[in-house]
Amino acid sequence: MQTLTMKFGGTSVGSPEALQNVIYILQRELAKQQRLLVIVSAMGGVTDKLLKSVECAVAGDKWGYLSLNEDIREQHEDAINQLILPGSERERILNRIDRLLQEHIELCDAINILHEATPRILDAVVSLGERMSSRLVAAILRAHDMKAKAFDAGDFLITDDTFQNAQPYWDETEQRIQNQLLPVLADGTIPVITGFLGATYDGVMTTLGRGGSDYSAAIFAAYSNSDELIIWTDVDGVMTTDPRIDSRARVLPYISYQEVGELAFYGARVLHPKTVQPIVSRNIPLRVRNTFNPDAEGTLIGANGVPSATVIKAVTSIRNVSMLTVSGRGMLGVPGIAGRTFLATARSGANVLMISQASSEQSFCFTVVDEAADSVKAAVEAELSKELDRRDVESIDIWRDVVIVTVIGSGMRGTPGVAGRVFTTLGDNNINVLSIAQGSSECSISFVIDEADLEKAVTCLHDLALETVALQNGHH
Ligand code: ASP
Ligand code: MG
Repeated sequence: MQTLTMKFGGTSVGSPEALQNVIYILQRELAKQQRLLVIVSAMGGVTDKLLKSVECAVAGDKWGYLSLNEDIREQHEDAINQLILPGSERERILNRIDRLLQEHIELCDAINILHEATPRILDAVVSLGERMSSRLVAAILRAHDMKAKAFDAGDFLITDDTFQNAQPYWDETEQRIQNQLLPVLADGTIPVITGFLGATYDGVMTTLGRGGSDYSAAIFAAYSNSDELIIWTDVDGVMTTDPRIDSRARVLPYISYQEVGELAFYGARVLHPKTVQPIVSRNIPLRVRNTFNPDAEGTLIGANGVPSATVIKAVTSIRNVSMLTVSGRGMLGVPGIAGRTFLATARSGANVLMISQASSEQSFCFTVVDEAADSVKAAVEAELSKELDRRDVESIDIWRDVVIVTVIGSGMRGTPGVAGRVFTTLGDNNINVLSIAQGSSECSISFVIDEADLEKAVTCLHDLALETVALQNGHH
């Protein structure tokens, strides 16, 4: 008997129509005698509303958080009333949701009095989204004759207390999943577990960061010895590029763990970037499938890089970034300037998305999100003030209207000429490249260009990726 871990994202549980498809998908798998473990996100939009309610509470806007609370109630009650017949199951779940919504108001009232929300309180508030959706989905499954039970992930997934971005304690989590969750599966019950959440050893609720339920699902898949992880979402799979930029975007039938990791890091929103970490070493295949098109195969993600003639599988982009350059003739042979620059950047709390150095060693540049640019510049100027005084470093400049474009494909490793092909294509299209970096895994190349060139660049490089899809489809 196989064990499948299935994660349903926010839109997949976000409306009665979507939930109807969830029922269909699970019944279809049960008919194949599978053991099923289900991870759910909050209903679509609920996490944002909960965060908004905290902002209202901090600002003393009681009417604001009460009306958000009412919205969230309607969304849940609507699903319950449409999918669960009147009777005791319906009454029980309505009461359960009502109690959680009461808790929401109590938390907001407390924030309203204090006029501030700590990360810990924020986690307690946003956790309500998944706590409600897991109870809701379990009740709906029971109402459709499936054996299901809701669980809080915090019973198993133990983390540190970095609220909003908690890190799992692996051994403890593995033990709890093996000891406490496997018996539930063996009994033929479908556990419906809150994505996104964990808890400290003391049982205080934590969250794994926005979009973290993919990551939760991978953790549960790994430690429950699942045969496959399926992420059910609202698109047909991992695409060759963003269809809003190039409508010719296609679903990739297959992509490797490494490639999808780079894709997620460089702007494709399909998976949380950490998702593949827990499953790679166990070689658990991952599929991305569409809840609204349940018969489509989706994208399979696994260990092998499938070679292809063009090598390039996908093109992604990140907007709203700024590039900083640190330059000066005196930098040549002065060790440590780059190191100190990045330490100063890290201390200012900013994440570096891409780094590259010119071979002359007289300048290097790196890219951060727009909002961080000014504070990073100030931090680096303070750190390098002596060098700036001595003119060893001449200037630190910000380039604002730029984007990062990344092309992905594992075949780049050891395939000479791929970078050449990429940059020839860009040159042929008159696109000026401001800086270039190759990903350390050698399955991506990123470069910075003017925002104005974004569509042209993505489209011409995407031609190369479309050749790959045509080839892959030829093999299937
Ligand atoms: N509900 C959370 C969020 O919106 C987690 C997730 O859906 O993955 O970020
Ligand atoms: Mg998501």
